[in-house]
Amino acid sequence: MTAPIRPQPGILDIALYQGGASKIEGQSEPLKLSSNENPFGPSPAAVEAMGKALAESHRYPSTDHGPLRVAIAEVYGLDAERVICGVGSDEIIHFLCQAYAGPGDEVLYTEHGFGMYRISALAAGADPVEVPETERRVDIDALIGGLTERTRLIFIANPANPTATMLDSGEMERLADALPEQCLLVLDGAYAEFAAGYDGGTALVEKRDNVVMTRTFSKAYGLGGLRVGYGYGPQHVIDTLNRIRGPFNLSGVALAGAEAAVRDQDWVAECIRVNADERARLIGGLRQLGIACDDSHANFVLARFADEAEANAADGFLKSQGIIVRAPKSYGLPHCLRITVGRPEDNDRVLAALASFKGAE
Ligand SMILES: *Cc1c(COP(=O)(O)O)cnc(C)c1O
Repeated sequence: MTAPIRPQPGILDIALYQGGASKIEGQSEPLKLSSNENPFGPSPAAVEAMGKALAESHRYPSTDHGPLRVAIAEVYGLDAERVICGVGSDEIIHFLCQAYAGPGDEVLYTEHGFGMYRISALAAGADPVEVPETERRVDIDALIGGLTERTRLIFIANPANPTATMLDSGEMERLADALPEQCLLVLDGAYAEFAAGYDGGTALVEKRDNVVMTRTFSKAYGLGGLRVGYGYGPQHVIDTLNRIRGPFNLSGVALAGAEAAVRDQDWVAECIRVNADERARLIGGLRQLGIACDDSHANFVLARFADEAEANAADGFLKSQGIIVRAPKSYGLPHCLRITVGRPEDNDRVLAALASFKGAE
């Protein structure tokens, strides 16, 4: 007998999202390098603005996020009318699936693609469709080959998580050119700030009416705990998403913190500069230890071990040293560990621990 109270199709197929671990049994202050957080924290100006906003917590927040959208638009040269803010960029991904994909529709992404694409597609009742990557890189031809008359959305993170690789704008444009007319391309720019010279997809959004960009305050801006992200796209898409957005989806504290953060470009620029130096040092150190690693365009590196057993052993050894990294098994990369670039002293600890691990092998 079918239970009379049952959720919509697809929902029970969702496996709960696994966040980066933050605790190790018996270690009081582990070094957390498992969620690609900014190791320097948020801008002090953002912290101050949030403190002020806290005292106004009896007031409902703005429903249209005007001051935050204007700040984002001024800093990045966007049209504020075509910015939509969400509870993390995860919420924008969710709105896109809810608005554009339903039962019988397909949502396309790649082998090592970010976990929320599948979750949001299933939540909307659509069919998630995964195509292979080539050597841990998004493969445009595989995506084009995966298009059908049912494809409504394509999600690509650029730079990608957990691989840290990226595509150039020519490749992205080739994909956009190949899209059937019912299909929207979503460029997830969660790590765009870390990729030197990359606009996150802005130019492509401006040129076409079938491309949307998502961005976040969770990574470079150090505000993962605040939950603020945004989307940028054609007016017709933004108007659609705003109809399903809760009027008070962002708190007053979140709006104030994000606005101050985006206006403090000196802070984020310095975080990005240190990340680039430390990322190069971490990759160099890993390779010296005989641990393979692709070039990274983000704030983390993907260390590749000989096999899953060696990756598990390395993960266990790092834990014994109080260091938490991410084992991206659910991303089809069981022989890898994803390591967030930390402060210089954090990266020293990681490299020293892996040197001991390799030495003892
Ligand atoms: C972290 C991340 C996001 C978004 O996170 P929010 O905190 O919801 O903004 C989106 N895409 C990718 C690929 C990420 O790694």
